[in-house]
Amino acid sequence: LDNQNHVLPKPRYVRVNTLKINTETAIQELERIAKVKIDDVVPDMLVLPGGTDLHNHRLVLDGSIFLQGKASSMVAVALCPKPGWKVIDACAAPGNKTSHLAALMKGKGKIIACEINKKRLVHLDDTIRRSGAHNVEIIHCDFLDINASDRSFSKVRAILLDPSCSGSGTSAERLDHLLPSYSTDHQDEAAANGPRVRKLAAFQKKALAHALSFPAVERVVYSTCSIHQTENEDVIKSVLPLATSLGFELATPFPQWPLRGRPVFDGAERLLRTDPSQDTEGFFIALFVKKLRSLPPAQ
Ligand code: SAM
Repeated sequence: LDNQNHVLPKPRYVRVNTLKINTETAIQELERIAKVKIDDVVPDMLVLPGGTDLHNHRLVLDGSIFLQGKASSMVAVALCPKPGWKVIDACAAPGNKTSHLAALMKGKGKIIACEINKKRLVHLDDTIRRSGAHNVEIIHCDFLDINASDRSFSKVRAILLDPSCSGSGTSAERLDHLLPSYSTDHQDEAAANGPRVRKLAAFQKKALAHALSFPAVERVVYSTCSIHQTENEDVIKSVLPLATSLGFELATPFPQWPLRGRPVFDGAERLLRTDPSQDTEGFFIALFVKKLRSLPPAQ
């Protein structure tokens, strides 16, 4: 909001697809139409003035840049998969984060992109084709039905889990709520505890527990674009005993980021939230990392 309470257009975030173009070249091209800044948190992310229309820009159409929000782009960076790893994107369509993983892995290794919804598979397929990633295998299935002990998944080292959620951090209604003197606490409360969100949270917990059960997995990132505690801190809290028993601990993605999880359990300060009024979208990120077993002392 400006000082007269007008809603200002959100900055236009652009993720450079480093599989196709380097950031300097993208900046040069985009500077022909607008002022371009480099984001100070997410690598290869550019910030253009709100309202810059890029939908038909050549770099968008050919997959050199993606119009992906900043918070959404923090998820794959938090997972930090290494080139050469085998990685699962558990709930992949439309594939923004899958293509980001491929870029971070420099096209090396393998990404298994799992999607349950047949119609959304078309978008996933299109995104991957446009991104120029050649190491993505798309599978049409329920992530919960993947057998973690199957040989084809025994070497999976990292899982990105961005499950279906209420979308309350990005919805237009939520942005209306940002207008001053519009009290929504009770409405948020009702939505957060309603049957839809509870059903989503039940799936989110199951999917997160499943992700943690893959035998070689050492990093799992969980994200939502929800502002509801029910889908965020409560999900993490409920799987923590299982995670701990499997040797995982919560790590702190983007330690310099100021807004952390709601303090509903010890360690929630390691979780990350983005604020829909400050950061344009309300996202939530949790990162589980397997503790390295200490080697026995040398004889
Ligand atoms: N990560 C995506 C991106 O950044 O482009 C967005 C993912 S969207 C929030 C969640 C996706 O998970 C939807 O496409 C939905 O159809 C899919 N999904 C929901 N339940 C699933 C399941 N059990 N197995 C696999 N995919 C599922």
